[in-house]
Amino acid sequence: MRHMRRVSWALALVGCEVDEGGWEQALPDIVARSRYVDLRVDVESSTVCMEDKLAEIDRFIEETAAFLGVPVPAQRIGFVIAPVEGRTRENWPCTEIASSCYVQGTSGGFVFDEPSDVGMGKLTRADYHEFVHAVDIPANGRTHWVLEEGLATYLGNDGSAEGILGPFPAALVESLRMTSPTNYGVAMQFVGSLIEAHGMARFDEFRRGLAPSAAAEEVIAAFELVYGEDFDEALAALSTTAIRGRRADVTCEGEAVLWSGEPPLRANLTAACGDGWFYGGLGFGLINPSPDDSPGVYAKPYLVEVPETAIYNLAIIAPDLRAFGRLRACGDTPGDGSVVSYEGHGSSAVLEAGTYELFVAFPEGAATDVSVTLTYQGPPPSP
Ligand SMILES: [Zn+2]
Repeated sequence: MRHMRRVSWALALVGCEVDEGGWEQALPDIVARSRYVDLRVDVESSTVCMEDKLAEIDRFIEETAAFLGVPVPAQRIGFVIAPVEGRTRENWPCTEIASSCYVQGTSGGFVFDEPSDVGMGKLTRADYHEFVHAVDIPANGRTHWVLEEGLATYLGNDGSAEGILGPFPAALVESLRMTSPTNYGVAMQFVGSLIEAHGMARFDEFRRGLAPSAAAEEVIAAFELVYGEDFDEALAALSTTAIRGRRADVTCEGEAVLWSGEPPLRANLTAACGDGWFYGGLGFGLINPSPDDSPGVYAKPYLVEVPETAIYNLAIIAPDLRAFGRLRACGDTPGDGSVVSYEGHGSSAVLEAGTYELFVAFPEGAATDVSVTLTYQGPPPSP
């Protein structure tokens, strides 16, 4: 599933920009609150189960503030989930092509997201980038987009800048000339390298006084003043080692599935709001196996141990059969094993022995009485 991760990484980075006011009257109501965040989405609040997810965002906000050496935001952060349909300038302040953005309003910051990230089961993960802005901008103010987006990308993602090292120096200079965000990977390589080599305080000194409209020449002059290095020579040095975003890859996490008996392995899945893993109720399908159908509105990840390498069939059985399940190999597990179950139909694949993440999307009202079977079907085909 490396491919899916890459897609969501790219989506989260498209065209984020910061804007001022004019849209707050169009915000949906608050349906859940955490220490720092007000979740706003146009659904009945009693259906929403997001407290554990918001607590995760709270922890990220605190970690980010500690890394930046700034206080947590004094004002509330609105987290607005808006559907793609019916979008207007009033209810969607991001650029048209952006799937998310951060907006600094007079009464606090707002993170806007669309439900497509939910389809990856990654509602909150895709937005960490925006929550970095939500901590950084109120404390440090605005600056050139390369420095703003480079920082948010460095702290909010686990992607690597490996692919951009060759053209990096020229691409960075080109980015500095652009007046709106374009190349986030290049920005991350620049900012991440500077912070790792010289620390946060020096980076703050560099960006201080650089307005969002600063010309490339101003940025370069500030760089040479603060870092005491020739810009072109520094860029060549910064092209040698690819930076990786500091937000850890959290692909594999969840509640352990406890199998009963011998193969076929069976387990009853429990899921309840507040159990630490179950979330949803935002009114959107969480998984979209076919374009016309989005069954789940709640989801939960589990961890599954596959005892031996073999062909297995995975089936998720729910009372009305509309649960969806997807099993995929965790990082240390060899192979690319992945298998899905949809509407009671299982499917089979060769799974290497090891740990897997089982992501289950539940239809509304059917979060109990769901079972999973993993049936041994035979040894793997000989190579
Ligand atoms: Zn951004």
